[in-house]
Amino acid sequence: MNTVSLVGAGPGDPELLTVRALKRLQDADVVLTDDLVDARVLALLRSDARLLRVGKRGGCVSTEQRFIHELMIREARSGARVVRLKGGDPFVFGRGGEEVTALREAGIEVEVVSGLTAGIAAPASIGIPVTDRRHAPGVAFVTGHRQDGEDAPDWAALARSGLTLVIYMGLARAEALVAALRAGGMPAAMPAAVISAAHTEHQRQAICTLGTLAATLKRARIASPAILVVGEVVREAAQLEQLLPFGEQASAGGSR
Ligand code: SAH
Repeated sequence: MNTVSLVGAGPGDPELLTVRALKRLQDADVVLTDDLVDARVLALLRSDARLLRVGKRGGCVSTEQRFIHELMIREARSGARVVRLKGGDPFVFGRGGEEVTALREAGIEVEVVSGLTAGIAAPASIGIPVTDRRHAPGVAFVTGHRQDGEDAPDWAALARSGLTLVIYMGLARAEALVAALRAGGMPAAMPAAVISAAHTEHQRQAICTLGTLAATLKRARIASPAILVVGEVVREAAQLEQLLPFGEQASAGGSR
């Protein structure tokens, strides 16, 4: 029985794949892919490889996840070289951990091939160094998807932490998220950035402040997938002039 490879596809551009990821893709007999993976990455598969699109399209998440596990297990047992392909890094908000557990429980060996995560690559694409020590002692990667309930990030604590906040899946609830950070004491003038579809041909970005974030998202017609960055490091964003048509320069550029 072959090892199943859990492969990170990076944020988009195939040049950002690791060499190992490319090798696994070209060796694969079966590839189970997420919606987020760029078409240019999928074009690298062997022409006789089977491509199974198992992205989430609504419905009951747990059932769907179990179905993905069963599919991987069945294919691996049949002797196929299986790649489970995920956008960015497979262990960053990608359910990679759950999939490794399910495969191991089925007695199947798993290899993890790390990928470039959007939370680092998207800010970097506009010159934002997420842990720049002149601005922050570190970075917190958080999901904006969960707002209520036990699993929601403690926004007040994050607001006080001094960490750069890199928020995945935060677009749909941006307004609530801003309110929670403000309630936690984060100033409205805190620099913020949004980068959507980074490293794809549809990339868009805007620089603004926490206080103008919600309005900027609407005006710039930013669509998912997008990364939100909140913190002083946003001041380092390159070529601010080029970003102006989308957003507001506000304090992000004003302090230079
Ligand atoms: N495993 C992925 C994240 C999956 S969660 C990774 O490591 O990058 C999905 C979220 O990732 C999206 O809602 C968005 O916040 C972010 N994302 C993924 N690809 C992106 C891209 N090309 N540009 C901007 N954000 C992206």
